[in-house]
Amino acid sequence: MSARLLASEAPPKPAFPVADLHVHLSPQLSIEQALELGKERQVQLGILEHPGPGYKIQTDAELKQYIDGLRKYPVRVGLQPVYAGWSKSFSKGALDQLDYVLMDALTLPRSDGSWLAIWQIDTMVDDEDEFMAGYMKFIEQVLTSEPIDIFGWPTFLPVPIARHYSRLWTPARVGRIIELAQARKIAIEINEVAHVPDENFVLAAKRAGLKFTLGTDARNQNAAHFYYCYQIAQKCGLTEADMFAPKRK
Ligand SMILES: [Zn+2]
Repeated sequence: MSARLLASEAPPKPAFPVADLHVHLSPQLSIEQALELGKERQVQLGILEHPGPGYKIQTDAELKQYIDGLRKYPVRVGLQPVYAGWSKSFSKGALDQLDYVLMDALTLPRSDGSWLAIWQIDTMVDDEDEFMAGYMKFIEQVLTSEPIDIFGWPTFLPVPIARHYSRLWTPARVGRIIELAQARKIAIEINEVAHVPDENFVLAAKRAGLKFTLGTDARNQNAAHFYYCYQIAQKCGLTEADMFAPKRK
């Protein structure tokens, strides 16, 4: 297939200013490389880092160092907490320096105090209904009690049940997520790597007046590279007014 044909099949870049608000720096992606990709692809960037146990940001001082280190670059600076209750480790003053916080509901607390990371490819689901009930409970917890601006990876399903997306995301469940996000003005991430949420969810959320962000969740040259997100933006007729753009603090 010719490059020209491929190019004509790719969804167009939206007419509004595009930002990839889900970029992780890594040994494969320096801030300079990320900025270069953003420039090439005409996409603004938001950088995320994880706080908490096992990660390098655990104190106010470490958070401040992270934010200050990125302030000389033209990027938004955010945090992607993984564990519920994470914000207790930081003062409000320190958290207020962040441009935004994005959190997903993919690391489910278990009753024994451990965690179930449902994005992992070997996640097992014995009972679909039981899983969905527990998942919804955690989503509700994240959307009602975590101090966040963006709900990441919305409606992602673990591999063994992913093909049942349309059946499992019932109007009631979708409606509940939208209602909770609406109550606290939490934006919805359209996630490039997971291809979530689907068109129906985005249209329903749009009707409810929710705002959206686009994110690759990339730690490499895939940063700022959108296909699914542009496709959804086109299909759902998203405009600049539908997008959430965090302000620089
Ligand atoms: Zn991430």
